[in-house]
Amino acid sequence: MTAARRPMIAGNWKMNGLKSDSRKLASALARHMIKRQKPGFDMVISPPFPLLAQTAEILKGSGIRLGAQDCHFNPSGAHTGDVSPELLKNIGCKYVIVGHSERRTDHAEKDAIIRSKADAALRAGLTAIVCIGETLQQRDAGRTLSVNRRQLTGSLPAGATAKNTVIAYEPVWAIGTGKVATPQQAQDVHAAIRQDLTKILGPNEATKMRILYGGSMKPGNAAELLALPDVDGGLIGGAALNADDFWAIARATE
Ligand code: PEP
Repeated sequence: MTAARRPMIAGNWKMNGLKSDSRKLASALARHMIKRQKPGFDMVISPPFPLLAQTAEILKGSGIRLGAQDCHFNPSGAHTGDVSPELLKNIGCKYVIVGHSERRTDHAEKDAIIRSKADAALRAGLTAIVCIGETLQQRDAGRTLSVNRRQLTGSLPAGATAKNTVIAYEPVWAIGTGKVATPQQAQDVHAAIRQDLTKILGPNEATKMRILYGGSMKPGNAAELLALPDVDGGLIGGAALNADDFWAIARATE
């Protein structure tokens, strides 16, 4: 982390939680945050769609921001099962994750679709959290940086700025596996992403844009990763489902 960028800790609850346990989780985090006062980090939580409205109510006045896990690229229309970024904004979201590797794999989402979703997020006034990351096979083949460059270039929305876009580097082999990138691996890729951002957006936005690390971040490894110069926070799956663990990760930024 560096003083140029405010750390962000974002939780991705994925397809987990029912009404009552999710209420408890969000309430516990809201209590932590209210007690903390003036925290040195931004916190975002991204529950499943049907829990967004309930969570928006719980988070009111806490300073924790609400995010969604995906959106459609159209503002409305005949798209059964999809949700527009305009509706997400309307019910209180500030952020939306696009291009998570589970969407890339489970729903065959390619960079062009992800970019159109990120464009749509900006159109609706949301901040896009754009996920990129290589598979183990790609890393083993020495293609880590080229894969991340291709995904970044292909998925970044038009008009991206440090205010409306956050990048999440999530090596696919580290997501939900308990295998975490070493500090060297994480820093190398984050620095390369920032260099690529400099080429695409110019040094001003690239210096200010936050790049989160995601992949088995836990209270026990967070401090080491978050201390890296180009790691500006975390996108957290498993450990975001436990209020104490998620809070401990957030506090590791301070
Ligand atoms: C994620 O899903 O974005 C993620 C990083 O998951 P986990 O923390 O469980 O590896």
